[in-house]
Amino acid sequence: MDKKVYLSIVVPIYNEEENLPILYKKIKDVLENLFNQERYKDKTYEIIFVNDGSKDKSWQIIKELAEKDPHVIGINFRRNFGQTAAMAAGFDKAQGEIIVTMDGDLQNDPEDIPKLLEKIDEGYDVVSGWRKDRKDAFLSRTLPSRIANWLISKTTGVYLHDYGCSLKAYRSEVAKSLDSYGEMHRFLPALAKIVGANITEIPVKHHPRIYGKSKYGISRTFKVILDLLWVKFLIDYRNKPLRVFGGFGFLFLVIGFLTLFYLACEKICLGHSIGNRPLLMFGMLSFLTGINLISTGIIAEIIIRTYYESQGKKPYVIKGVIQKKNE
Ligand code: UDP
Ligand code: MG
Repeated sequence: MDKKVYLSIVVPIYNEEENLPILYKKIKDVLENLFNQERYKDKTYEIIFVNDGSKDKSWQIIKELAEKDPHVIGINFRRNFGQTAAMAAGFDKAQGEIIVTMDGDLQNDPEDIPKLLEKIDEGYDVVSGWRKDRKDAFLSRTLPSRIANWLISKTTGVYLHDYGCSLKAYRSEVAKSLDSYGEMHRFLPALAKIVGANITEIPVKHHPRIYGKSKYGISRTFKVILDLLWVKFLIDYRNKPLRVFGGFGFLFLVIGFLTLFYLACEKICLGHSIGNRPLLMFGMLSFLTGINLISTGIIAEIIIRTYYESQGKKPYVIKGVIQKKNE
């Protein structure tokens, strides 16, 4: 009998030639040990390396690994699409019930994988690693990321110490239902909230990068903040754009209407000339802006519906169904 894939490890790779062979061996040791255990006896695992347009020998190494180890799957991008896209490709390919993501630079430790799985067994849908003792430069990396984590937690309502840690485990149906793009991989736990996932975190080990260099700098912090606004919108308003636009639109409409009404009263009752009043300009602009925003809301609402319907997407996510069979 063929064993069922239980665990899929997804590793985005961009210029990690020195790290790959060591990382592969470490993951392999941990997983071979784990899947020798009785409870995993009819289950197996896969390791998906996604080569994100590396310019070094990474793909060659992945190819060799995949040729000699049937557990290894290599995906090769045509060019560099970024870590988020690489993770999404891994999710699409993954056959396991559980998906674990990690970095390819040995900063995450494969020894933590069993701990993530234990938490999943407790019933969580997403388990996020927390690099409690982070081994990166304080001023340029650790400090900005602390501020970012605080901000992200406050904004999304999903409280995590360490959004940026790539070592995370997901139930596969949750991971596969997340639409991520741009640089949004770090927000996956917050996006998982949209589909109603149970999310937790556990401390994990972290090592300094020894080979190769980090692909990111401080500019990432700013991108993260912009993405955050978008994630906030997705969480709170994704299905109700009419409320966002319509709400503002209604406000403008009312202000504009009242202003114009006031001016009209002045003209009719007091006979004042109002043609040269700045207030007239304000009232008209406000009124028109209101109408515009409300129309935008209606169009956005139509787009949302078209989006769901054209892709056969459902506006809900089911966790399970219980049904008595008629006999
Ligand atoms: N990575 C990628 N595509 C990119 C940038 C990075 O696949 O465009 C991979 C990289 O090879 C590594 C992981 O994403 O496996 C995290 O990158 P890095 O270590 O540079 O980030 P840091 O740990 O400094 O945040
Ligand atoms: Mg790294």
